[in-house]
Amino acid sequence: MELVMVVMVLQEGKARSCTMAFHERAGDRCIVLFIEFFLQVAIPSVGWCCSFCPYTRMTLPIESVHARQILDSRGRPTVEADVRVRGGHSGRASVPSGASTGSAEAHELRDADPALYGGLSVLKAVGHVNGEMAKALQGQDALDQVALDSTLTRLDGTPQLSRLGANGILAVSIAAARASAAALGQSLFERVQTLAGQPALSMPVPMVNILSGGLHAGRGMDVQDFLAMPATATSVADAIHLVSRVRNAATEEARARGLPTLLADEGGISPGLPSGRDALDMMMRLIERAGLRPGHDIVIAIDVAATALQDPQGGYALRREGRHATSAEMIDMLADWVQHYPVVSIEDGLGEEDWSSWAELTRRVGHQVQLVGDDLFTTHPDRLARGVREQVANGVLVKANQNGTLSGTIALIAQAKSAGYATVVSARSGETEDAFMSDLAVGTGAGQIKIGSLRTSSTVAKYNQLLRIEEACGAPYAGLAALTGRA
Ligand code: PEP
Ligand code: CA
Repeated sequence: MELVMVVMVLQEGKARSCTMAFHERAGDRCIVLFIEFFLQVAIPSVGWCCSFCPYTRMTLPIESVHARQILDSRGRPTVEADVRVRGGHSGRASVPSGASTGSAEAHELRDADPALYGGLSVLKAVGHVNGEMAKALQGQDALDQVALDSTLTRLDGTPQLSRLGANGILAVSIAAARASAAALGQSLFERVQTLAGQPALSMPVPMVNILSGGLHAGRGMDVQDFLAMPATATSVADAIHLVSRVRNAATEEARARGLPTLLADEGGISPGLPSGRDALDMMMRLIERAGLRPGHDIVIAIDVAATALQDPQGGYALRREGRHATSAEMIDMLADWVQHYPVVSIEDGLGEEDWSSWAELTRRVGHQVQLVGDDLFTTHPDRLARGVREQVANGVLVKANQNGTLSGTIALIAQAKSAGYATVVSARSGETEDAFMSDLAVGTGAGQIKIGSLRTSSTVAKYNQLLRIEEACGAPYAGLAALTGRA
């Protein structure tokens, strides 16, 4: 038998309510409830010890789930969800959307009705949240994130969450975590830390888009992104300041050279340079123009996004360079860049199914540079397990909407860490003002974060959240020690 009590607790001067599910054990129950109640009220620092008590277990039943269609930073529809729990607390989350997507990603459900946002509306996904999902979650414990997420994935019943849509599922999953955090009086990063069982928080080192091409900038350059990483920073605040100098220098340099300064999807500029080497030379000049030393103050990360370069006939089409490259030639090109420039991280240097060449790339330069799988791993445990088995890459990009749930994403980070892979929590090129990813990166101690450039409110919202978290918890800054592959 289970008795449910609503308990009001005074903590830090604020009244909080929670629901305690009491598991009857003959003779003990009154004593246990009395002790728990006493501890909660009299010694607030004991916190919610009832959740660990063998006799009592705190639950937070979900009262309502509601979603709506909103817009992302590209003006495309996306899903926002609200989860309300007993006691009146609620959480809200909205999900991002990619442009250079991996084919194994969790499915983003769109309506495909040409009359609505050119087929991109998400009213079906919203309808699934407000219908089937809301019904299934009614009364379910928001504190049991794993059970909640597995209710949603089981309800969907497809491997890539294509029936209900990963966009709706993830929005609900994160909103439930926010509602739980609010009910527990925690920040979201603390809630994530608890869910991850992470012993220590850490502030991630950012990789910041400076020059962009590929699918984020009308294919103005073959390689998708050249990013700056601060090397001498000792805090996130310091890191952001250092990189902002490079980002500002990019606009100045482009203006001086008569190159376009318009923003790419993630807020970098798109100078439309003909080759990767031209872009790397420009990165070196920008760093110097900012009064900083390349390789000392600032190092370079690259997202080749090579899946988007794959030629259906085989190999890679480097259209701006006017040449075709085999996998072996791509590896030679990347190794050459690592040798001649202060490149510390390369993401998706090869296509998503080019596994044997990925293994060769890893043998060749994996001891010198971080090799990150994005389209390759798609935040999927099976694909990451294959990578670890075949010694492919040494880092994983973590995009919660590639995975589909919060607990799945947290588990993936743990899997990567236990295999010695670096973890880079990443935004998508279509973002909302939701800054969840910053809390995810800090709470899981991921070590690295890739948000976009220091432009546009959807991107800056995440940097600002990092600044707030750093002020609030003073967690140590991970720095470049978080990168793998550096000899
Ligand atoms: C990326 O490729 O890492 C990225 C953020 O872009 P998208 O969201 O388009 O996949
Ligand atoms: Ca990528």
